Amino acid sequence: MKATVSIFTIGAEILDGRILDTNSRYLARFLTDKGFEVARMHSCGDTLADITRGLKDLTELSDLVICCGGLGPTSDDITRDAIAEFCARPLVKDVSVEEQLIAYYTKRNRQYDPTNNSQAFFPKDSTILNNPVGTAAGFALKTNTQKLIIALPGVPYELEHLIINEVHPLLNEFFPILTKVKHKVFRTFGLPEAKIGSLINALNIEPEIKISYRAHFPEVIVQLSANPSAESLLESSVALVQQTLAPENIYSTSNEFDLPQLIMNLCVDKKLKLAVAESCTGGLLGKFLTDMTGASAFFLGGIISYSNQAKQSLLNVPAETLDKFGAVSAETAQAMATGVRNKFNSDLAISITGIAGLDGGSEVKPVGTFYLGLASKDRVSAMHYFYPHQRERVRLYAAWSAMDVLRRHILGLH
Ligand code: ATP
Ligand code: MG
Repeated sequence: MKATVSIFTIGAEILDGRILDTNSRYLARFLTDKGFEVARMHSCGDTLADITRGLKDLTELSDLVICCGGLGPTSDDITRDAIAEFCARPLVKDVSVEEQLIAYYTKRNRQYDPTNNSQAFFPKDSTILNNPVGTAAGFALKTNTQKLIIALPGVPYELEHLIINEVHPLLNEFFPILTKVKHKVFRTFGLPEAKIGSLINALNIEPEIKISYRAHFPEVIVQLSANPSAESLLESSVALVQQTLAPENIYSTSNEFDLPQLIMNLCVDKKLKLAVAESCTGGLLGKFLTDMTGASAFFLGGIISYSNQAKQSLLNVPAETLDKFGAVSAETAQAMATGVRNKFNSDLAISITGIAGLDGGSEVKPVGTFYLGLASKDRVSAMHYFYPHQRERVRLYAAWSAMDVLRRHILGLH
């Protein structure tokens, strides 16, 4: 069964650009994953006429309309009134929500203002969607034409909480036989999107398998999707793509799992401690590796040695190496990796030295040139890269390249 849904975001601040409508994207991904077809995304300001118009159009168009925003207590929050009027239901007070609201304010030592009471009112016959992480409870209501309208708060954190805990079970009940599309993702780093596209095109994969590419810099995510009836075809296509892209270019097959996370898991699994020395990335690699809780299990620390003097005094890079080969060279990268490994007494160390731009480039070493150094117990090596782009891109690409080198080293890939 295919069911259609429209996403309806309400609030003047979306239309005038004060906020970015991230809720629509979140909802679209959640709903598509559940097997819905998203028919429309619609946004409007906080006026009764606009909201009513939107509800009319969207309920004609789709089986389900998810509204978000405008459930607060202020005078510009009129979503509940608009839905009540559209469905011709009076607003009735829910005593248990009122008690929860009073408890919410009391717990935070805040005065309960009677204007908040509007948040305890819902169109008659609504199913209330509890919101323990905020004050705006959501609700679900069937229209006279048997379409389902769901209203959720605009604050992303609250919306997501309600989706997972309240909306998900409700949708299973209302739409029990959705055809859930099967997906498989490949997260790749290193091959350009066009190259990946041409490699996969050459496989002539059957049209039942939908292939999509998403360049989420610096990685490229390839997704194969199919209806459950084509599951075995999906499996054989997945195997073909996997073989073609080769394991060294696919670093993860999970949406949840990015490269820093993988490095953490690999290091923890193999009981490896890591240290980093950074020049042109200025700590970006260290940031990625410490973005996750639990990073202390493998990450010992890093040194940002931006100047030559810092490279010498903090990492013991010999002055002769810097003089003879320059700060951006394989020799300096190796000396930095060795230096930081000794300093932290780590199992593995990686270094980055390069020219991120805008200035600083030369004919021999143009902007976008960088070297990575890798030091382990057994060997020290360096790799040369050339990635001529804007400063931020070069830095991001260099940090990801360093993680990719670590991944390949730990997994014994090349
Ligand atoms: P509140 O009780 O906070 O007033 P509400 O349901 O009335 O909840 P809004 O007032 O519409 O929600 O929005 C509250 C905040 O949530 C906005 O200021 C904005 O930061 C965020 N927000 C609202 N809509 C969206 C959206 N579509 N995408 C991302 N953030 C949003
Ligand atoms: Mg509000």
